[in-house]
Amino acid sequence: MPTYNAPLRDMRFVAHEVFAVADTLTALPGYEDASADLIDAVLEECGKICEGVLMPINQSGDEEGCQFNNGEVTTPKGFKEAYKQFAEGGWCGLTASPEYGGQGLPETLQYMVDEMVGSANLSFGLYPGLTQGTIICLTVHGTDDQKDTYLPKLISGEWQGTMCLTEPHAGSDLGLLLAKAQPNDDGTYAITGTKIFISAGEHDMTDNFVHLVLARLPGAPKGSRGISMFLVPKFLPNDDGTLGERNAVGAGSIEHKMGMKASVTCAMNFDGAKGWLIGSEHKGLAGMFTMMNKERLFVGTQGISQAETAYQNATAYAKDRIQGRAADGAKQPEKAADPILVHPDIRNKLLFSRSIIEAERALSIWTQINVDKAHVHTDESARERAGDMEALMTPIIKSACTDFGSEITNACLQVLGGHGYISEWGMEQLVRDVRITQIYEGTNTIQALDLVGRKLALHDGRLFNGLMDEIDQSLESTDGRNDLSEFVVPFKGALDRLKATTEWLKAHAKEDPNALGAAANDYLRMFALTVFAWMWVRMAEKALDAGGGEFYQTKLQVGRYFMTRVLPGVVSLDALVRSGAAPIMSLSEEAF
Ligand SMILES: Cc1cc2nc3c(=O)[nH]c(=O)nc-3n(C[C@H](O)[C@H](O)[C@H](O)COP(=O)(O)OP(=O)(O)OC[C@H]3O[C@@H](n4cnc5c(N)ncnc54)[C@H](O)[C@@H]3O)c2cc1C
Repeated sequence: MPTYNAPLRDMRFVAHEVFAVADTLTALPGYEDASADLIDAVLEECGKICEGVLMPINQSGDEEGCQFNNGEVTTPKGFKEAYKQFAEGGWCGLTASPEYGGQGLPETLQYMVDEMVGSANLSFGLYPGLTQGTIICLTVHGTDDQKDTYLPKLISGEWQGTMCLTEPHAGSDLGLLLAKAQPNDDGTYAITGTKIFISAGEHDMTDNFVHLVLARLPGAPKGSRGISMFLVPKFLPNDDGTLGERNAVGAGSIEHKMGMKASVTCAMNFDGAKGWLIGSEHKGLAGMFTMMNKERLFVGTQGISQAETAYQNATAYAKDRIQGRAADGAKQPEKAADPILVHPDIRNKLLFSRSIIEAERALSIWTQINVDKAHVHTDESARERAGDMEALMTPIIKSACTDFGSEITNACLQVLGGHGYISEWGMEQLVRDVRITQIYEGTNTIQALDLVGRKLALHDGRLFNGLMDEIDQSLESTDGRNDLSEFVVPFKGALDRLKATTEWLKAHAKEDPNALGAAANDYLRMFALTVFAWMWVRMAEKALDAGGGEFYQTKLQVGRYFMTRVLPGVVSLDALVRSGAAPIMSLSEEAF
C-alpha cells in the first residue's frame, strides 16, 4: 500500500523563504491574521488529516468504488466518516467569508491544503473542491438572499455544490447546450434537460445538493451568448434553513470509469426542476467562469498532487529494491545486488519528477498569491496586474501540471517495474486517477487554445508584457551574482526564445488560420518549462542565500538537474511550434 508524507518542509521553503507569503498576505485587507505561524499550524493540521484519515481510505475507495441504487449513491466505506471529520474541521470553508461561517483564509493557503488532500486521496478531494467553487461563484454572483440561504450550508460542508455544464452533445463546445429554463410565475424557473458526467451529483455524505446549471431561456440567442446560470437545489430549503420539498432533479445513473472511482460521476436529469437565476440573463457562461477558473487551477493542483505521491513511493521503492550492480562498482557489496537507485535511468526518472513537481509547486504558490491580490488588494492597478497574472497562468497550470502529472506517475510506475503494474503497490491507481485531470474542466488542448488564442492577445498583449515586467523585476536581485549564473543564464536563454517564438506565432497566425491550433500544445509546454525555470532561479537564489544545509544543497542539485536536463526541451518545442500547420493539415481527410 502506498504511503504519503505531507511535504511541509518544501511548502514552507517556497511560501516563507522564496515568496515571504505572510508579509504579502497580512498586508492585504481581510488577511491580517495570515501570519507565518498560522499558515504553518494549518499546514501541520492538514498534513495529519491527509496522512492519517484520507490516505488510509484511498486504495480501498478505489477497489470498492461508488454504488448506485434507485437514484441513491453510496460512497465507499469510510468516506462518510472522513467527510464528516473534514467538514467539522472547517476545511470546506477555509477561504470562505467569515460573514457566512467561513475562515476567511487566503487562496494561497488553500492551494497547499488542496495539494495535500489530493495527494492523499484524489477522489475525496474533488467533493469539497466542487463545493468551494460553488461558494466562490455564489459569493460573486449571488443575491443577498441566495447567499444567506446557501452559503452557510455549503461552507459548513453540510451541502454539496456541483457544476452542471456538460450534455451528451455539448462538451468542449458549450454553445451547443440545449437544457431549457422556462420562467415560472413566481420569478423562479423550470429547468429541463440532461447533464452528463456531473461530479458529486449525488451521494450519501451531504444532506442537500446545490447544482449550478447552465441552460437557455426561451428565445435566447444561439451559441455561448445565450446561456444563463441557475441554482437548482435537490431539496428546496424552507425559510428556517431546514430541508423542504424534493425538487425534480436526480441522478439517472453513474459512470463506470478508468480512475477516481470513489468520486462519483452522474448523469443528472432535470425534469422541470425549480431553479433561480444567478447573475444576468444570457450571461451565465461568463458567470460560470468564476467557478471554472477556480476549478482549473484546482485541477492543475490535482496533477501535482498525484505526481508527488508517485514520486515519494517510487523513491522509497528505488532505495529498497535490489537488482543489478552499479556501473561504477558495487555500492552495497554485502548484498546480492545494489538498490536500483544506483542506475542512471532510475535516478533520471526520479529527478525529472522531482525537479518538475517542485517548480510546479512554486509556480502555483506564486500564482495563488496573485489570486489573493486580485481579490482584495486595495490598489486598483495592483489588482489588475495580479488578475492578469492569474489569467495568464491558469491555462498553463491546468494543462502543464496535469500533463506532467500523467507523465510523472507513469515514469514512477516504471521505477517499480512489474510491481508498478500490480494493484497492491498503488502506482497504477495514481496513473489511472490522474488521467482525467488532462480532460475535465476543459481539455488540455482547450487550455492551450485559450492561451494562444485569447490570453496572448488580451488587452494588446498586456498579460504577457506584465509577466515579462514581473520577471525583470525579480531578476534585479540576481545581477552580478556569479554563483547564480548556472541558473540565470539558461533561464534567460529560454526566456528570449519564448519571446521570439511568441512574436513569430502572433505574426504567423495572421497568415494561416490553423497556425495557432497546430502550435498551441507545444507552445504551452514551452511556456511552462520557461516559467518553471524562472521558479528555479528564485528557489536557487534563496537556497544559496541560506548558506548551506542539506535541504538547500539538495534543492540546488535538483535545480541544476532541471536546468541541464529538462529546460533544453524548449529547443525542440520551439522547432515544433515553428514547423507550422502544414505537416499536420496537408493529409486529406480521406487518407486518414
Ligand atoms: C470523470 C469526469 C468528471 C467530469 N465532471 C464534470 C462536472 O462535474 N461537470 C461538468 O459539467 N462536466 C464534467 N465532466 C465533463 C468534462 O468537462 C468533458 O468531458 C470535457 O470538457 C470534454 O468534453 P467532451 O468529453 O464532450 O469531449 P469533446 O468536447 O467531444 O472533445 C473530444 C476531443 O476533441 C478535442 N476538441 C474539442 N473541441 C476542440 C477544438 N475546438 N479544438 C481542438 N480540439 C478540440 C478535445 O480536446 C478532445 O480531445 C466530467 C468528465 C469526466 C469524464
